[in-house]
Amino acid sequence: MIPVIVKKSGINPEIKCNQITKEARRAFVELLKGFELSISAFRPIEEAIVTSGGVKVSEINPKTMQSKLTNRLYFAGEVIDVDAYTGGFNLQIAFCTGRLAANSIKKQGGL
Ligand SMILES: Cc1cc2nc3c(=O)[nH]c(=O)nc-3n(C[C@H](O)[C@H](O)[C@H](O)COP(=O)(O)OP(=O)(O)OC[C@H]3O[C@@H](n4cnc5c(N)ncnc54)[C@H](O)[C@@H]3O)c2cc1C
Repeated sequence: MIPVIVKKSGINPEIKCNQITKEARRAFVELLKGFELSISAFRPIEEAIVTSGGVKVSEINPKTMQSKLTNRLYFAGEVIDVDAYTGGFNLQIAFCTGRLAANSIKKQGGL
């Protein structure tokens, strides 16, 4: 992003920071804050990280992960309609719901 923004700003990349005028710095901030991007296409499905959609959370008991509609049916991870930014959140969802579902199944004496 740095070369793109510097070029768009019109600021000479060779000059030192303290040589950039106050007006140019203000314009630079405006440029960064108002920077617009047009989406031209989606990345290929092979690069997809998480799936939106799935079993509604309102249909799952959050204390056990058991379906509210079907007895002895449990859900965990991607199959649930939850998705988060990348950074470990989706894995955390999978681990936590998986553990809770497994413990709940064990408590009720198996499937
Ligand atoms: C490329 C990529 C990068 C990612 N990076 C991140 C990240 O950085 N941070 C993050 O938090 N999340 C990331 N995720 C998302 C995260 O990996 C998933 O949300 C998480 O692994 C979901 O776990 P899960 O157990 O629900 O499903 P999965 O990990 O998809 O496990 C489902 C398993 O079920 C098996 N299976 C499917 N059908 C059947 C069947 N009929 N019978 C038996 N087994 C079956 C599959 O083979 C698979 O092993 C990434 C995902 C991808 C694809």
